[in-house]
Amino acid sequence: MSRFWFLIVKAVWWGEPMAGKRVLILGGTAEANELAGRLAEIGDCHPVLSLAGRTRQPRRPDVEFRTGGFGGSDGLATYLRDEAFAALIDATHPFAGQITANAHAAAAETGVPYFRLLRPGWVEAKGDHWIRVADAVSGAEALTALRLPADAIVFLALGHRDLEPFAAMNGLRVLLRGVEPVVPPAGFFACETLIARGPFSETEELDLLSDKSVGCIVARDSGGASGYAKLKAARRLDLPVILIDCPRDTSPGSAVESVEAAIVRLRNKLVDKGRS
Ligand code: NAP
Repeated sequence: MSRFWFLIVKAVWWGEPMAGKRVLILGGTAEANELAGRLAEIGDCHPVLSLAGRTRQPRRPDVEFRTGGFGGSDGLATYLRDEAFAALIDATHPFAGQITANAHAAAAETGVPYFRLLRPGWVEAKGDHWIRVADAVSGAEALTALRLPADAIVFLALGHRDLEPFAAMNGLRVLLRGVEPVVPPAGFFACETLIARGPFSETEELDLLSDKSVGCIVARDSGGASGYAKLKAARRLDLPVILIDCPRDTSPGSAVESVEAAIVRLRNKLVDKGRS
């Protein structure tokens, strides 16, 4: 499409309901950064990205951003009103349950159009040896049932969360990895921690698993491309993976799964709001 027709289509289809509107994006994911960047690039609305402030050196987005909690759902509702936001998009991590509940409640209280951008979970492929579990406690039980050799290294790809049930197994040798130093709970027989920031390629993950002689991976079903490389590497090496499920809301219309779909949903929400 020529630039001329692109501008006409953009003005008619996209521009009006969006013009100048402030959109709050709850972030902490690659998708949130991408969405904020895309909206800024399109240029009709004004995205503001919100970060929790957990990492000391987060990737700085090229859009306006703020950092830190709001003070619960009431604080978020106040912020939405005070800053005159026209829409709220929850693009936080699939396992970030509290902020999602807060966003839902604050949107209901303020009437600000809201939806969630939630990447789909991973799907097992030929050659995978996945054991799906509901939570970390069941993950530790599944790991015990695997009866790995006593000297096996388990890669707990969980960041700093959910480590306690595995530490309670006593005698486990583990590999941990985080963007910032992970402080392991007491109880592991041996523990190596790596500081590294993804995304990692399949080759990097293959090298890591081979170099460290990993015998099993425990991960959360976070979905998305960046964490998937370790699962592909596990497939190549025939390693078992214990995958902690993410309870995803699958009711129709509840969430969109891609940045593209989020842009369309945002526009539709603002059109609907304009009519009401
Ligand atoms: P959480 O338990 O759902 O949220 C805890 C509190 O952190 C919230 O109540 C809120 O504080 C604040 N918060 C969370 N996300 C925020 C955001 N985007 N902007 C402003 N405040 C935010 O969240 P979490 O699991 O600790 O995750 C924290 C952040 O890290 C999230 O933004 C998430 O996207 C990202 N992240 C999480 C994971 C994970 O495994 N959970 C993995 C990668 C990235 P107030 O109540 O004071 O508003």
